[in-house]
Amino acid sequence: MPPASPQMAETTSWLTGPAAVDLKHVTHTFRSLDRSTVTALSEIDLEVRRTEFVSIIGPSGCGKSTILRLISGLLKPSSGAVSVFGLPVTEPRDDIALVFQRPTLLPWLNVIDNVTFPEKHKTGRVSKETSAGALEILEMVGLQDFLRKRPSELSGGMQQRVAIARALLQDPDILLMDEPFSALDALTRDELSVELLDILVRRPKTVVFVTHSIQEALLLSDRIVVMSPRPGKITENIVVPLPRPRGLNSMLDPVFSEMTSEIRSKVFTRARH
Ligand code: ADP
Repeated sequence: MPPASPQMAETTSWLTGPAAVDLKHVTHTFRSLDRSTVTALSEIDLEVRRTEFVSIIGPSGCGKSTILRLISGLLKPSSGAVSVFGLPVTEPRDDIALVFQRPTLLPWLNVIDNVTFPEKHKTGRVSKETSAGALEILEMVGLQDFLRKRPSELSGGMQQRVAIARALLQDPDILLMDEPFSALDALTRDELSVELLDILVRRPKTVVFVTHSIQEALLLSDRIVVMSPRPGKITENIVVPLPRPRGLNSMLDPVFSEMTSEIRSKVFTRARH
């Protein structure tokens, strides 16, 4: 049925338009130079709606990072189809940003120059708009007093904030995050999770987030996808019913602890098989 008004079409387009990310029957096999093969993913079907936050949980080596590389256009699937906003992914796109476990900053550049580096690299200069945007985003992640510091002068959490700021400055529609907080201590992890929730309220984005932490996934996600050991398949698709806005208090909700146990049993049952 067509929408009753343009406004309604606008507000419901995330439901009716193409998915932000769509993997259909995706299988991926890596071939090494010695001709051995590793089938990392088998028959993956995954649809992520616009502004949805989906976490992927599964044992090491089950193909989580491979999924992110396929979505980002860094890899092509051996079979099946990967599309973004309804179009096949053929190469890396400007509207997708990646954040890795390690912040991958340039050690000789200060914070602001690291954040604006992608534009400098692409165009040879940094526009006034980009500089202003960088300042705004660095303030959002609490680094306004560290603009001229080099990465070696920052804590691990601060370095990861710089990497997140660099990704956000690209203003991507889709943010792919590969265990972005796993190298950090527990307190900093919680702090960064809450900051990410806050940023996404202000700048909604579609997020695909790889993590080993069930609690982190529950705190952040609309949906959690559980994978089996290699070759990775999706074994569970779990909608997180916790209300938003969320914060650390959400962890006190009885649903949070019930779901933590439920997901833990699913992850471990699968890992044993
Ligand atoms: P995860 O992120 O779940 O830990 P990955 O997606 O990194 O898993 O890897 C899935 C499987 O594919 C692993 O067995 C890994 O060794 C293998 N793999 C990943 N990248 C390559 C590659 N470039 N060449 C060969 N094998 C690879």
